Amino acid sequence: MQSMTTTRRLVIFTDLDGTLLDRETYSFEPALPALRWIKQKGIPLVLSSSKTRAEMERWRERLGNSHPFISENGGAVFIPRGYFSFPFPCDRETEAYTILELGTFYPVILEVFKAVQEETGIHLRGFSDLTVEALSSLCGLDLEEAGFAKKREYDEPFLLEGGAEEIERVKRKIEEKGMTHVRGGRFHHLLGKNDKGKAVEILKELFENEFFSIQTVGIGDNFNDLPMLSSVDHPIFLKAEGDGTPETLLSIRGLTLIEGGGPLAWNRAVLETVRTLNL
Ligand SMILES: [Mg+2]
Repeated sequence: MQSMTTTRRLVIFTDLDGTLLDRETYSFEPALPALRWIKQKGIPLVLSSSKTRAEMERWRERLGNSHPFISENGGAVFIPRGYFSFPFPCDRETEAYTILELGTFYPVILEVFKAVQEETGIHLRGFSDLTVEALSSLCGLDLEEAGFAKKREYDEPFLLEGGAEEIERVKRKIEEKGMTHVRGGRFHHLLGKNDKGKAVEILKELFENEFFSIQTVGIGDNFNDLPMLSSVDHPIFLKAEGDGTPETLLSIRGLTLIEGGGPLAWNRAVLETVRTLNL
């Protein structure tokens, strides 16, 4: 009998802000060597962010990326039509995508957001309260990008006036209402029962069906990435200078901790850690 070696195809899931993109300038230039290597090897690179579909489409264009992506902290999974060679159940289809929705309808998110403000008396500023101009100067985005960032479908990012005590009260109130509070790089987020990990699980199954055997990598830099990191075989956490290490990180099996955040650290993570998995 002939022995058969099975190659486990790599699939990489990555966060954007503070991970592949610079936290302040949004540049990915220092990551170009690793991006080139990934493309050359034909490894699917799945972008997974708290950004909206409209923003992520822009980043996919800039990165020359045509793989599935995860928007709004796992609110939805967008799969280019015909990307997988087999049919699978979905929630919505557009001309461009087959879409799996995990998030809660945005108008419901906003209702809860208003109720949390009223009931806690804590001043919260959500993306829905901000004009395109205000959001643009707050995030260092141009007006078009800020407009894209406001096209929310499943998740409300917000700023909170106050310290640890206020954060705890808001978090408790959100959870009391059956929703989730999570922290990203710049903002707090109010969302439904979705997270990046559940979205990754769905894609893992689809990729496994396509490639038969896969091994997965996840790269992130913040609390909202932890469910994604728990769902992959090789979790990598980028720890920017001055950032604390989330305590819950320690419970993630097989974690690689890389000092430094953003595209330079991302480049190192891929070329030094991920590349050794693909020899
Ligand atoms: Mg991030």
